[in-house]
This record gives sequence, structure tokens and C-alpha cells, in this order.
Amino acid sequence: MKIGVLALQGAVREHLSILESVGVDPVPVKQPQDLDCLDGLVIPGGESTTISKLMHRYGLMEPIRQRGLAGMPIFGTCAGLILLAKELEGTDQSHLGLLDITVRRNAFGRQRESFEAHLQVKGVADNYEAVFIRAPLIIKTGPAVKVLSALDERIVIVQEGHLLGAAFHPELTEDSRLHRHFVEMVKQAASVNA
Ligand code: GLN
Repeated sequence: MKIGVLALQGAVREHLSILESVGVDPVPVKQPQDLDCLDGLVIPGGESTTISKLMHRYGLMEPIRQRGLAGMPIFGTCAGLILLAKELEGTDQSHLGLLDITVRRNAFGRQRESFEAHLQVKGVADNYEAVFIRAPLIIKTGPAVKVLSALDERIVIVQEGHLLGAAFHPELTEDSRLHRHFVEMVKQAASVNA
């Protein structure tokens, strides 16, 4: 089983090492060929506009969208969630446009208003430590989207079949339960497609 981490900008190294800690040998993804043998992909946090520009520049946007449409599990965190979303509030543009949610960027304030919170994550974890940095908020979900966690009614983790999205940075703590959940999603998808 091979899981890639989109390695253009942002918290790439942290995702690679937390995946290693749960027994995966992760692959940094920098060019379209890197996608060939992947069973799953993590899109890290960082700056969504920058990552999007780089995805276009390196010819990764369309191939990743196609793999996502074909059922490859994708886990988008923070900026990665913004990249996955079908709709971004205040603009008619989206990036990958795969996950049926509307997202509000920087909904929790600026960099210095970064904070940590403990989340209940349905079916995944109790008391999960989450680090929010200029985080987006999920303001609308489509009918097939499951809300896995909300913070005072603000939706922060969702799953739609093979697509998982978190508004925060799950790679910045030692808590690997969300990554383990994603690895299970990848295993399941791989066994269905085998
Ligand atoms: N605010 C950033 C954006 O819009 C995302 C923040 C993050 O990934 N930490 O891209």
C-alpha cells in the first residue's frame, strides 16, 4: 500500500513522519509520475493559493482530480481541505472541486489567533488534540457528507466516502488517530479495487 504526500509547499515533512509512525512508507509527490502507483494521497496545510498555483505549474491538478474522481482516497488538511472543496465562499472558483462542501477561508482569524482544541471525532477518537492555524471552516455540507467533528457547532472534520477533510493540522501533534483512520480508508479502497 502506497500513500503519497503532496510535496509542493506546506507541512509536508510532518505528514511524512506521522505516516511513517503508523507503519506506512510514504511517497513525496512532486510530479504527475509520482501518482502512478499511489493508493492514497494526503494534501497538507500551507497556503492554498500557493499550493494550487504549484499544482497547475507542475501539471498535478488534473491528474489528482481524475484519481480522486476514480475513487483514490484523499485526505486534505487545512489548506488541503480548501483545495479539495467544491465551493469556496465569496468566489466562484474552486481548486480540485471534489469534496461536496463549502469552505470559508481564514474563518478563525489570523496567524496569532492560532489555537488548540480537543475534539470528539465520531468513530475515530475521543479527546483528539487539534491545532488550528489560520484555519478554514466548513460552512455547508452536501447530503453525502458525514460530519465527523464539530467545535461548538462549527464543522471541522468531514468525510464523503473516500474523501477526508480536516480544517486543522493533524500532523503537528503526536496524535496519529486521524492518520490511522485514513490508512484504514486506503486499505478498504484498495481491497475493493483489488
Ligand atoms: N489560510 C490558509 C489558506 O487559505 C490555510 C491555513 C493552513 O493551511 N494552515 O490557504
